[in-house]
Amino acid sequence: MSEFDISIMPGDGIGPEIMEQALGVLDKIAKKFSHKFNYKTVYIGGCSIDKFGKPITDETIATVLSTDALLFSSVGGEKWDNLAQDMRPEAGLLAIRKAILGYANLRPIKIFPSMESFSTLKPEVISGIDMIIVRELVSGIYFGEPKGVVSLPDGTRKGFNTMAYKDYEIERIAKIAFDLAQKRGKKVTSVDKANVLDVSTLWRDVVSEVHKDYSDVELEFMYVDNAAMQLVRNPSQFDVILAGNLFGDILSDEASMITGSLGMLPSAAIGGDVGMFEPVHGSAPDIAGKGIANPIGQIITTAMMLRYGLNLETEAEAVEKAVADTLKAGYRTADIFRESNKKVSTAQMGEAIIERI
Ligand code: NAD
Repeated sequence: MSEFDISIMPGDGIGPEIMEQALGVLDKIAKKFSHKFNYKTVYIGGCSIDKFGKPITDETIATVLSTDALLFSSVGGEKWDNLAQDMRPEAGLLAIRKAILGYANLRPIKIFPSMESFSTLKPEVISGIDMIIVRELVSGIYFGEPKGVVSLPDGTRKGFNTMAYKDYEIERIAKIAFDLAQKRGKKVTSVDKANVLDVSTLWRDVVSEVHKDYSDVELEFMYVDNAAMQLVRNPSQFDVILAGNLFGDILSDEASMITGSLGMLPSAAIGGDVGMFEPVHGSAPDIAGKGIANPIGQIITTAMMLRYGLNLETEAEAVEKAVADTLKAGYRTADIFRESNKKVSTAQMGEAIIERI
């Protein structure tokens, strides 16, 4: 038996509804595999503003850092939209990401066989897609200095940012990509713009250097413009895509739409003190409280936490298989409903998945 402490952040909007189902899944996993999960509920975002008057507290950060993983839902809503930037729900999200310092953002892109019709791409193009995008999250152009907007003597204004990477920042993210590839399809596609950018030349050098320790993994380099094209032309060629912050941001959103269902996509930030696991979608205030939200994104996120946060591979696979079986049996929440399916509520979808674990 293993025992784990998990921070649970139900959040705003549909967050509490879908988190309830994720906890049901975790309880079932605990029972089936004889683990003990100790849940510590934390509040970040709008729910923290309502409870403590600010989007995150020092106590919350300390609690999260004392646990093995953070299972996060989503934050935000109209109610808090008019607050000052540093008091808005998103400030809490940024603060916890900063405290955890997870430098590797993982975005798996996998399509369930029974969900292929939701993609905008043809079934033969998307069949068998199973890739993961590893995006560097705490450096690159979003953080590089100098940056700003200045007025020049000739009266024009200039805006600028700096895309900068230090060798160790590239090295640690490349290691994560190669480690993942070793456990998957044994191929890394490293994305850059080395034909134009000096920073990409260093990126290639360091990635090639790290690759020397992974002789069983194939490495290819691809310019980002080509990668964007290949993702819609032949996405099943990819196993692990490794990219810097900006390129990874754009490619992961592009790739996520291949699946066509926002309510079903997980993500993780790892590499820091505590892994943070959250669905890609937001708090969906338009459907909150109606019992119709799709809990699958949160549940697959929970599987990711089991795999990458707690190192429980078999347990993660059990959750993913239960989701696939439930979809195969025709269960659908409103967002993924088509004629001939069984339309179910958030809770019924959760129960159907839990039953199949
Ligand atoms: P959203 O992802 O919340 O919703 C977009 C659309 O997808 C909506 O129509 C929504 O109903 C639907 N949707 C999303 N998740 C769903 C689910 N699980 N089941 C069924 N339908 C689902 O994005 P938005 O509307 O742009 O943002 C709403 C709020 O969420 C905003 O306050 C935004 O700032 C916040 N947000 C938070 C995060 C986060 O916490 N990481 C991410 C994105 C947006």
